[in-house]
Amino acid sequence: MDIHEAKTAISKLIDDEAEALWALSLAIHADPELSLKEHRAAERLCAYLENNGFTLTRGVANLPTAFRADRPAEGGEKPSVSFLSEYDALPGLGHACAHNVIGVAGAAAGVALKEALGPEYGGVTVFGTPGEEGGGGKVLMAQTGMFREVGAAMMMHPSDETRAEINLLALSELRFHFRGRAAHASAAPEKGINALDALIATFNAVSLLRQQLPRGARVHGVITEGGEAPNIIPDKASAWFFVRSETVEGLDALVPRVIACAEGAALATGTELETEKNPITYAPMRVNSPLASLFLKNLNRLGVHEPDAPPPRRMGSSDVGNVSQQTPTIHPQIQMVPSGVSAHTPEFAEASAGAEGRRVLLTGAKALAMTGADFLLNEEARKAVQAEFENREA
Ligand SMILES: [Zn+2]
Ligand SMILES: [Zn+2]
Repeated sequence: MDIHEAKTAISKLIDDEAEALWALSLAIHADPELSLKEHRAAERLCAYLENNGFTLTRGVANLPTAFRADRPAEGGEKPSVSFLSEYDALPGLGHACAHNVIGVAGAAAGVALKEALGPEYGGVTVFGTPGEEGGGGKVLMAQTGMFREVGAAMMMHPSDETRAEINLLALSELRFHFRGRAAHASAAPEKGINALDALIATFNAVSLLRQQLPRGARVHGVITEGGEAPNIIPDKASAWFFVRSETVEGLDALVPRVIACAEGAALATGTELETEKNPITYAPMRVNSPLASLFLKNLNRLGVHEPDAPPPRRMGSSDVGNVSQQTPTIHPQIQMVPSGVSAHTPEFAEASAGAEGRRVLLTGAKALAMTGADFLLNEEARKAVQAEFENREA
């Protein structure tokens, strides 16, 4: 099979399906469901993949809204590729992270690649990965090892800037709960133990710690409970922190230092502290440059280019980092909104259901499927991707 013929076929397949794909994306956009509760969105995507000849396994990794859709290879040892679909929405904002676009682009890429290249060329899988917005769906799926079964994993994310490679930080979540004793804040303050003071001391200690943090480390939190009324010494106060680092080792070193800030505050104020650490830890992104540059070439072929300016140091985290620890992975961004417009805003939600969302969906799906064709057909390119994954430290 000639690679250019395969790519032309992919382009045509997605253009022919454009109306149906966009209708599917709009249906998901109009019916937003929160992290790990995306039952209808997952089923819409499952039905689309099943109707297009994939074998579906629903509820993988004990997650009711996770799935995998497989088209196995035939005839001995063959390479395989996978695409990742996300489909959860945000509280209050709906599809303000464009996961309606991501979800359909991943599924459409899978179908187009499957149609363009038969099972004699390799396996194609679409992973339905729920709960990206805080649920850590891919972390839980990665714990089963399922991403190790595929030769590569690919997804794209709409953004305000086109970039083939992005860095993502490792992330841990901490919650601190301080318990003190209530008292009248004016009549008998000496009888109280102020849980809010413990919280304020924690934030101050974290602020001081920040000055000594290594490059790429981030600690940021909010107060989730801080008292009921000014004339009552708060007996309960709670905070929620994100701790981030460029490496898992850096995170392991930083988390105890943040906990120590809260422990010191508890000691100083005489409060009791309960610390909760979310068992889901996001791994950093292990960028695969050879795979990202294949994607970028395909994107360029479709008329979309990266800006000339050097890439900004973006400091987010995503559960795709955990996938990237198991198989060569890319998570490129394609510009959907004007520069400076952030995801998780009403403007982003609107664009996700507009002409720009449609363009990014179709272009993204084509570039993903074409990169899948490169991976299955071009042994030299595949070896470069694998070599980078095996040699590069996480
Ligand atoms: Zn998001
Ligand atoms: Zn997102």
